Amino acid sequence: MNDDDKGGPKEPNYPDPEEIKKTLEGMFGQLGKGGFSFTGADSSSFAKETKGAEESFVEPETDDIFEFDLLPRDIKAHLDRFVIRQDEAKKALSIAVCDHYNHVKTLKLQEDEVEKLELQKQNVMVVGPTGVGKTYLVKHIAELIGVPFVKADATKFSETGYVGGDVDDLVRELVSKANGDVSLAEYGIIYIDEVDKLASSGGGGMIGRDVSGRGVQTTLLKLMEETEVPLRNPQDMRGQMMAMMDMQNGKKNKDSINTKHILFIVSGAFSGLEKIVRKRSQAAQIGFSTEQTEPMMDNELFKHVTTQDYIDFGFEAEFIGRIPVRVVCEHLEANDLEAILKYSEGSLLRQYEREFEAYGIDLKVKDSGITKIAEMAADEKTGARGLMTVGERILRDFKYELPGTSVTELVLDEDLIKNREKHLGDYRELGQELVVEKARQEVEAFIREFKVKHGVVIKLADEAVAKLVKMAGEQARSVFQVARQHFKDYQFGLKLIQKNTGQAEFVLTETAVNDPDKFLSELVVKSYKDV
Ligand code: ADP
Repeated sequence: MNDDDKGGPKEPNYPDPEEIKKTLEGMFGQLGKGGFSFTGADSSSFAKETKGAEESFVEPETDDIFEFDLLPRDIKAHLDRFVIRQDEAKKALSIAVCDHYNHVKTLKLQEDEVEKLELQKQNVMVVGPTGVGKTYLVKHIAELIGVPFVKADATKFSETGYVGGDVDDLVRELVSKANGDVSLAEYGIIYIDEVDKLASSGGGGMIGRDVSGRGVQTTLLKLMEETEVPLRNPQDMRGQMMAMMDMQNGKKNKDSINTKHILFIVSGAFSGLEKIVRKRSQAAQIGFSTEQTEPMMDNELFKHVTTQDYIDFGFEAEFIGRIPVRVVCEHLEANDLEAILKYSEGSLLRQYEREFEAYGIDLKVKDSGITKIAEMAADEKTGARGLMTVGERILRDFKYELPGTSVTELVLDEDLIKNREKHLGDYRELGQELVVEKARQEVEAFIREFKVKHGVVIKLADEAVAKLVKMAGEQARSVFQVARQHFKDYQFGLKLIQKNTGQAEFVLTETAVNDPDKFLSELVVKSYKDV
């Protein structure tokens, strides 16, 4: 008899801690789907993290950064492959990035030394209109160096009302982009567009913002300097529970991200800044021609932009002071857009070619077509983005109508763009002609096979062919297959007729296609009468 049987005092029934953990995880997993936000590190990386918790601390893959050995000209050469123009911006960014990651490397080497070098971060401001390659530059730099890269619009931050939280989410998103590798995220690049919208309304009547814009500037400032951002959003209940459980289990996962080595690149159109510079420079007699009424921010004018101009625009001095590298991305003219189509490795044309290729259509874009697309895109006034809009508009109908026809080549030239409807009609017709031509060839093949196999010569009337083409289309089979199946066993009847009448050749009409049995029976019956 054991203790239980004796009915003695029992151990209280404590739940298994693992069970509790599973239940809680399940519960919060369910809630997470509906009620909680998982901003920042996305749920996939989160899952990875929690699973990975078993192995405790995952070794970061940051070694590549500490072996950084690119020269500014290497980076620029890489960018040249993709980005047309913007040479000043390419240079400035290449230098800033090299300086940044060289500093990081040096600091790492001196990790154990008491007195460390000061690091003045080379945060970058890129001024320029939309669609001229600002994001494209940063994206390619991040890819080349192998660091995670996150882009956000500054306008997004203020609208939620919870300013601080949102900006922190950017940092957490870096972790997610680094597949949960916090150490790698700490060397990532955060790119914030539309920072000009954070200018306070004091900026000379510009489309400025108010206190909340200034609030975001302050929050960003903290990130740009150095701060620890909690890995898990304080608003995220599930994350908090997980953190607590980790702590109870003695896991020593990193729970915050240090922003000291994160490189910040901000950008904006800063429309109006050129007026401030011009006004000041005219007042100071720096000497610009006064004839130009709408000054455009180009490299020439940009040389004269001072920190005070940004402050006049509506920025906090501390904020602008944290962004020492400033550069302009210039407006793109039609001939630049043409060069993008022709020479950029990321040209849209490659994309279009691939898209048509998927339908077996060879897209041939002629120079005259490229020039015309570039001209039309320039009119859109959205930089290289206009190329996409125009390209889509020109090709949409062709992309819809040509796949599935027998057209195997589309020539995109100026004439096609100017007379789109006419060309579309021509291609439509050509598609039909080619279908009929292909069908003819298949019918010929069927006739040949019939003769070789059965020694009987048959022909098919045009209407019969048309009917077979239609059936083949409906059944998604080839005309050859349909004909073969339709006139299966025809040789017996035809040979019988041949025996009766000596007829050498048979013409199969549309009636034969519509009702093969009836057609043949009638022929056979007639052959007996004719004898
Ligand atoms: P923004 O300046 O607004 O950040 P993007 O860099 O996002 O503009 O440009 C949009 C797209 O246009 C890019 O993905 C790229 O395909 C193309 N593009 C823009 N500028 C250039 C350029 N200078 N050279 C080559 N492609 C460009």
